Amino acid sequence: MTDSLRGKRVFITGSLQGIGLGIATVFARHGVDLVLHGLGDAALIASAEAKVTRAGAGRVESHNTDLRDSTATEDLVAKLLAGGPIDILVNNAGIQHTATLSEMPREKWNDIIAVNLSSYFDTMRLILPQMAASGFGRVINIASVHGLVGSAAKGPYVAAKHGVVGLTKVAALEYANVGSRDSGGVTVNAICPGWVETSLIEPQIQVRVDKFNGDRLAGIADLLSEKEPSRRMSSPDEIGELALWLCSKAAHNITGTAIPVDGGWTAQ
Ligand code: NAD
Repeated sequence: MTDSLRGKRVFITGSLQGIGLGIATVFARHGVDLVLHGLGDAALIASAEAKVTRAGAGRVESHNTDLRDSTATEDLVAKLLAGGPIDILVNNAGIQHTATLSEMPREKWNDIIAVNLSSYFDTMRLILPQMAASGFGRVINIASVHGLVGSAAKGPYVAAKHGVVGLTKVAALEYANVGSRDSGGVTVNAICPGWVETSLIEPQIQVRVDKFNGDRLAGIADLLSEKEPSRRMSSPDEIGELALWLCSKAAHNITGTAIPVDGGWTAQ
């Protein structure tokens, strides 16, 4: 099924590390051209490019723009589309800050909404029309369990992720009847992970590691025991495998969904 992805061009925001790089690496194994993106220095870019090239990617390019700046995003997408169509868009960039509503700095609200929600709106509004013109396109929005349920001390993050799930449904409906089974159609879906071990959640892990006098495994077990019944974290590659399947032609009728990968968290 994935041979049909060879040579397709995949743009993944926030893909120099973490889940985004995991997704990029899984796609690279199927010979796609990759547009990597994120905040980072030359060394981080070089190491991400080397990883996906080793995995089998075709053409690889990297861009370092701040998604809080919608004009910069417009410029980036114009530049990308001038170089050829984008077949698959993965909106993945995200940030976190934990504090109660009364303690949450106002600028954290602005930043989290801008990166975790508004940037997904920007890339979709700019790229979906071109996908429609070709009859094939896939948008995967990396939301979170926090797009489906709340947790204390994560106000802006939960608001942004619920926004992503809603925006995913609207975009899916607007493009649902584009193309055919043969062309693959244009679909828009959200993936909603529970805990995935990346630098995004490191501050939350560190609080628990400290509670258990430096025992990392005990700290992680304590964190997961609260909400994730499987008590197992997902890996970035596993999120990539689901994204890859959603990009197959067989998934042409799966659109507007929000798929949990959360060890039963949202089943409770
Ligand atoms: P990460 O911190 O490892 O990666 C985040 C990426 O976003 C980085 O590449 C970073 O450069 C990029 N980014 C951040 N701010 C940016 C900005 N202003 N402009 C451009 N790029 C920016 O985190 P991760 O865990 O890999 O998170 C990826 C996505 O997965 C996020 O949307 C996150 O909310 C979501 N998610 C993560 C978990 C988890 O447990 N790690 C769980 C559910 C959902």
